[in-house]
Amino acid sequence: MNTIYLDNNATTQVAEEVLAVMMPYFREFYGNPSSMHTFGGQVGQKIRTAREQVAALLGAMPEEIIFTSCGTESDNAAIRSALMTRPDKKHIITSRVEHPAIRALCAHLATQGYRVTELPVDKNGLLDLENLGKSMTPDTAVVSLMWGNNETGVIFPVEAAARLAHEKGILFHTDAVQSTGKIPINLKNNVIDMLSISGHKLHAPKGIGVLYIRRGTKFSPFMIGGHQEKQRRGGTENTPSVIGLGKACELAAKNMEKENTYVARLRDKLERELLKRITQSRVNGDPANRLPNTTNISFEYVEGEAILLLMNELGICASSGSACTSGSLQPSHVLRAMGVPFTMAHGSIRFSLSINNTEAEIDFVIDKMPAIIERLRGMSPYWNSSQPACKTQ
Ligand code: PLP
Repeated sequence: MNTIYLDNNATTQVAEEVLAVMMPYFREFYGNPSSMHTFGGQVGQKIRTAREQVAALLGAMPEEIIFTSCGTESDNAAIRSALMTRPDKKHIITSRVEHPAIRALCAHLATQGYRVTELPVDKNGLLDLENLGKSMTPDTAVVSLMWGNNETGVIFPVEAAARLAHEKGILFHTDAVQSTGKIPINLKNNVIDMLSISGHKLHAPKGIGVLYIRRGTKFSPFMIGGHQEKQRRGGTENTPSVIGLGKACELAAKNMEKENTYVARLRDKLERELLKRITQSRVNGDPANRLPNTTNISFEYVEGEAILLLMNELGICASSGSACTSGSLQPSHVLRAMGVPFTMAHGSIRFSLSINNTEAEIDFVIDKMPAIIERLRGMSPYWNSSQPACKTQ
C-alpha cells in the first residue's frame, strides 16, 4: 500500500539534496567544529556556510542566527531570555492558539509569578491588533505571537504586532516554525526581535532549530555551557543537521514561489472538492490569510480520530487537531478558541501538503473521503439518517 502523506505540518520528509550534504558529516568529517585542528576546522567552515544560508532565507545577518535543538527550544530560549533581561517586568502577552511550545511554557511561567495574557481570536482564527494594543502595560516584558498556525494555517499580522510592541518598548518574538519556507520572511523590513524555526518542518531533519536574535537585542542564554554559538547556546553543534538545515533553507529560498503555487493549487482542489462532495463540512481558518499548504476541514457529527483510522487503512496520513494533542479526544484548543461548534470541532481533519504530493494522490483522497464520512455518519447516533452524508456527483 502506498503512503499518501498529507501531514507535513507534523513533519516533512528530508529532501534528497539535504540528506546528500549531511552524509559526509557522520563518518568522513566527524571532527568537532570547535577543534583547533584542520580536521575539525573544516566542519566549522561548513557551519558558517549553513548560518549564511539560514540568514539569507530570513533576510537576517549570519551573526543573528543561533542553532538550537528544535523549535521548542528556540521558543523557550526566546521567552526566557526576554524575562531574564527584563527582570523588573512580569507580564507576557501571547495568544490562545499558540503551539504548546509557547502555551505550556507560559502556563508554567504563570505558576512562577508571571502574568500571562492570552489574546483571543475571531471565528476565522484572526487576531485583533487593537486588542493587543490594549493588553500592553508598562509591566509587559514580551509579546509572543505565532506567524503561521500549525492547525489551521492562519497567518497572524506579526510585523504590525511587532511595531505596536516596539512603540511601547516591549520585546517581540514570533514562532515562525510553520511559516518559514512557506511564506516570504524578510527581517530587514520589520522590527521582530526574536524568531523561532524548526528544521523538520522544511525538509531538514528533526532535532535542529534556529533562534534568530536581532543584533543589539540583549540575550540571556537558555543552555549554559561551552562557548559555542558565541556563548549564546552551549553544546557541541549537531553538525550534520546544521549543514542539512542550511541546505534546506537555500532550497526554500530558491524554490518557495514555484513550490507554493503548486502546493496551493493542490490544497485548493482538495478543499473545494471535499466541500462540494460532503455535506455539512466546512473549512476552519481565514481562507485569505493562510499558509499555502494547510487546510483544516470539519465534518459534522463524526469523530476526527475515527476518520483518521479509516484514512490510515487506505494509507492516507493526516492529523486531527495538532500532532502533539491528537493523543486526546479533547477538541483542539485552536478550534475552541475560534468558537467552532462542538459537533464540528470534534470532526476536524488537518491536511497539510508539501511539494512531494502529486495530483494523483489528491484525486485519490477526494475519491475516498466521502465514503469514509458516510460510513461514520451511518454509525453516529447524532447524525440524522434521513440526510445524505454526501452529495451525489
Ligand atoms: N511551534 C509550532 C508552530 C509548531 O508547529 C511546532 C511543531 O509542531 C513547534 C513549535 C515545535 O517544534 P519542534 O518539534 O521542532 O520542537
